[in-house]
Amino acid sequence: MRAAVLFGPQDLRVEEVPEPDAGDGVAVVEVQAATTCGTDVKMWRHGHRILPPYPCRFGHETAGVRADTGERVLVSDSVACGACGPCQSGRPQICRNPTWVLGGFAERIAAPAAALHPIPDALPAEAAAMAEPLAAAVHAVARGTDAGDVAILGGGPMGLMLTALIVAQGRDVTVADPHAERRAQAIDLGARSAEHLDDRHELVFEAVGRTEAWREAAAAAAPGGVVVLVGGCPTGTEVSFQTGPLHYEELELRGSFHHSPEEVDEALAALAADEALWRTLRGPTISLEELPEALRTPTRGPSKKWVVDPRS
Ligand SMILES: [Zn+2]
Ligand SMILES: [Zn+2]
Repeated sequence: MRAAVLFGPQDLRVEEVPEPDAGDGVAVVEVQAATTCGTDVKMWRHGHRILPPYPCRFGHETAGVRADTGERVLVSDSVACGACGPCQSGRPQICRNPTWVLGGFAERIAAPAAALHPIPDALPAEAAAMAEPLAAAVHAVARGTDAGDVAILGGGPMGLMLTALIVAQGRDVTVADPHAERRAQAIDLGARSAEHLDDRHELVFEAVGRTEAWREAAAAAAPGGVVVLVGGCPTGTEVSFQTGPLHYEELELRGSFHHSPEEVDEALAALAADEALWRTLRGPTISLEELPEALRTPTRGPSKKWVVDPRS
């Protein structure tokens, strides 16, 4: 079969590789859609701590059909160990020893059955693939509060997914992004928009992944407010905050990482209930062979996710 194989940073080749094996508790899935995200671009450009030694496969937002049962499934990108401290305390998203399931950019992928989630009937594969990042947005919303006045810093795919979920809860959302096209997407989803967060809000989500944005999000929180930090910065990065708001205003900073299996199912249900949520993010469908060029192309304009269909 054909697969995109990463030989090192910025060295991605589409090659013939051996067929994956189904085994004990492992199923083979025929990939119908694998969406790209910012993490893929980072992995392609700089490598990533979870990539196995090179050459390796990647692609972690994958939907297709189980070869053995014919069931349509989303392939979650990880399975928690179930045994570590966080797993034992009900927080599998920060499992210390997860099994990563990468390799969606291929005709087929072998995945532990525990990573597979049934796709609602009417939901197309390219939309179902987005349940992986959307589950992280579902988790981030759960890390926040029920405040009615919400700000989201960053109108990328994560910021827009947060927007759709929180607008659907009937709350006021302001999305800040310097790009006019992304602000227009946020408005289409029912939010207000701004270039910067000038006012202060009860609940602020940071969805950029840069230290300046972490600080800007903290500065935009109202007294007693909560900031949920969703965008990851490179490991080892340090960021400083003013002590005043943390102390005198009891500002809370909360990290948010990844998702639980239940949140993946919630994300699939949300996608089935709200077409606007995935239609605004769906970019062009491309073949495996077109993937290296797509990752090389800088993303400007509206937030879009490429849809790799390895059958095309
Ligand atoms: Zn992703
Ligand atoms: Zn664990």
